[in-house]
Amino acid sequence: MTGFSRRHFLSLTGSAAAAALSGGANAAMGPNDKFDLVIKGGDVLDPSQSLRGKRDIGIRWGVIEAIENEIPAARASKTIDASGKLVTPGLIDLHCHVYPYGSAIGIPADELVQFQGTTTVVSAGDAGVNNLAALRRFIVAQTRARMFAFLHIANNGLSAFPVAELYNIDNAQVEACAMALAENPDFLIGVKVRMSENVIYKHGLEPLKRGIQACEMCGWPAKMMVHIGGVETGALMSDILNLLRPGDVLTHAYSGAPNNAGAFTNIVQDGRLLPAALAAKQRGVIFDVGHGGGSFDFTVAEVAIPGGCTPDTISSDIHVFSGNSPSMPYLPNVMSKFMAMGFTLEQVVAMATSAPAKIINRAPKIGTLQLGAPGDVAILDVVEGPVTFVDTRNNKRDGKVLLKPVQTVINGVPFGRPYQSPFAVR
Ligand SMILES: [Zn+2]
Repeated sequence: MTGFSRRHFLSLTGSAAAAALSGGANAAMGPNDKFDLVIKGGDVLDPSQSLRGKRDIGIRWGVIEAIENEIPAARASKTIDASGKLVTPGLIDLHCHVYPYGSAIGIPADELVQFQGTTTVVSAGDAGVNNLAALRRFIVAQTRARMFAFLHIANNGLSAFPVAELYNIDNAQVEACAMALAENPDFLIGVKVRMSENVIYKHGLEPLKRGIQACEMCGWPAKMMVHIGGVETGALMSDILNLLRPGDVLTHAYSGAPNNAGAFTNIVQDGRLLPAALAAKQRGVIFDVGHGGGSFDFTVAEVAIPGGCTPDTISSDIHVFSGNSPSMPYLPNVMSKFMAMGFTLEQVVAMATSAPAKIINRAPKIGTLQLGAPGDVAILDVVEGPVTFVDTRNNKRDGKVLLKPVQTVINGVPFGRPYQSPFAVR
């Protein structure tokens, strides 16, 4: 298989994508037809079309059909009153752990919706080639939230957690990984590898090299998602950065975690940003937050970001352990934390909607409220008032805003009231 085309993906992405693509629902809707759902009076913020303002959103047959100043009540079968709330495209979490029953750290994606406002989630290496089919057949098939995945280069994924998956390098099987990528181009985005010393021990660059090799063998442009934090040596950190290709994702970019000996070997060392990190950023490597329970340090971010290594995507790295940690890294909390660091509301929403949508590049029109897009919407409270944020190394910073999910709609169907009848697809 040599070629890769968007058309090829679209032929594989299923009915929801087809509905969104056709735009046919739009054309078929007459002036007296009712919307299935109108989200009324919210402060709509959609960075994908530079839209901010009070709007009503009309959804019919799972698709966004109208964004207007006022949609008359008579045209709504059901209404959600969003007045005083922020309304954004459904949030997208590029790094989380949503393979329950298949690993020791997974959370059911639908249980995250009320805490995260996420309509699309990406499993970050929960599955390897040996347990990928079970993720698709038994988890994705019964989940309302959209799911995609990075496939772990280790054939057992994170199923052995907390036992490290790559102390034995034999678990990283290039051809098997490439085969799974070739067979699942509609679902997989690329390959995950965790490069920390407490995961790969002394295997140096070898796990990353095998991941890149699998990406390059599979026949389509698969991306790497590379987890850092406490790599074996400071020099290895630069070597990892130098291997990353444009479009590859560096996750836990602002980690301050130490290596096995307690040394700090991250992208900021001795208070200085590594030149290799800036070079990676400049050639198009994606910097992803991946906050998690041990992977975000204000003191690293506060050097790296002014130094040029700004985040491209905000993700949670939420799992059963990080969700119980003091930072509570649910996606809207992490977005709020970046507002405390000086980013605007528009910027943090873009980093959790349009930016990760571009990286996923599978279902058309996710991360946007454009006409014809799937009816994926997050409704949030913007709670103003003093709030203290803590990172994963117990540094604290004060902020002024906390984003709190109120309600989420996926494919036009709300979680909770008002209920849809019949409760059909998704
Ligand atoms: Zn993770």
